[in-house]
Amino acid sequence: MNATVSMIAQADPGAGYRALKPEIDAAVARALASGWYILGQEGAAFEREYAEWLGEGQRAVGCANGTDAIALILRGMGIGEGATVVTVSHTAVATVAAIEMAGATPLLLDIDPDTYTMDPDELAAVLEDPPPGIPPIRAVIAVHIYGQPCDLGPMLAACAKAGVPLIEDCAQAHGARLHGRMIGTIGHAAAYSLYPTKNLGALGDGGVLSTPDHELADRIAAIRQYGWRERYISSLIGVNSRLDEVQAAILRVKLPHLDAGNARRRAIADAYDAALAGTSIAPPVRRQGAEHVFHQYVLRSPERTAVMAALKAQGVGTGIHYSVPVHEQSAYAGRITLGPAGCGETSRAAHEVFSLPMYPELTEAQIEQVCGALRGL
Ligand SMILES: *Cc1c(COP(=O)(O)O)cnc(C)c1O
Repeated sequence: MNATVSMIAQADPGAGYRALKPEIDAAVARALASGWYILGQEGAAFEREYAEWLGEGQRAVGCANGTDAIALILRGMGIGEGATVVTVSHTAVATVAAIEMAGATPLLLDIDPDTYTMDPDELAAVLEDPPPGIPPIRAVIAVHIYGQPCDLGPMLAACAKAGVPLIEDCAQAHGARLHGRMIGTIGHAAAYSLYPTKNLGALGDGGVLSTPDHELADRIAAIRQYGWRERYISSLIGVNSRLDEVQAAILRVKLPHLDAGNARRRAIADAYDAALAGTSIAPPVRRQGAEHVFHQYVLRSPERTAVMAALKAQGVGTGIHYSVPVHEQSAYAGRITLGPAGCGETSRAAHEVFSLPMYPELTEAQIEQVCGALRGL
């Protein structure tokens, strides 16, 4: 590496804190001084503000993390033991872990190799003719991986035909849009992670879920705290999955900057796309009619190891999301049911994908450094 070139991290949650340090420090001080630390005014205000930001009559419920947000939606819908939930293997393991936390059986489908999102034809096929030996399919979880909306049109049509709700895993896609509509307001309910590196990130763990079904939101709000509708009285079987006041206060500072952060990510993606023109590596495919929010800017190459080393030599950090598909991980391999397509595209992608530095705080000089390295590929 050239001695004058400094390494650019692939992710840098500390930069997100530094960019808003005075406001975040003041919000933390306010939450600490309040004397109330769990499910208080900050949490309630964050839920209101997040629901307003989503629009479309959504209700938002805060919880401890994005994995719990998925599991809480399933519990709130009464989906658990004796039910199958369909999703993809090309996702954060959290999506599949949440299905099993709720007691349900995952069925993992393959992806479209261009957009890395669920193949809608395979979904229609399994809803019509489920694989033998699994409980009835009761829900589908669409994962908007890397910040790119799934092909929700045909997926919703297939779900409606089968009478099954569609849940959106928006952990990587806060603020993405499909044909102008906000992702997370299109299905029956949506889960968002607020992990520090996500497009909207707390400075610790956090999660939120949304639904236009107010009865479902009320039920989940009870389930997240021991099933209490009334203090100390469990009227539902619950868990403990609460968003704390300090994180809620931090998130209230960050939420008004989310749209600008997503626009900045898109501008960085445009610069990377332009730098790749004329190289052997194709820029990420953007779905027609979708507004991608580039949680990750993902490229693929059969020579991934060499390409990543070449970028590293130019001071460009990279990551792999994800190197081993869920169905090949030892906790899942051999016992998890796959769709009829067999997840071949998922396995191929896992061997080839890598992610470039992507966060709104990247400086112009850093972006130019990445672009210079890309032009040499
Ligand atoms: C991050 C993530 C989750 C889980 O969120 P946590 O807050 O880490 O529990 C779920 N699904 C996807 C696609 C994610 O990227």
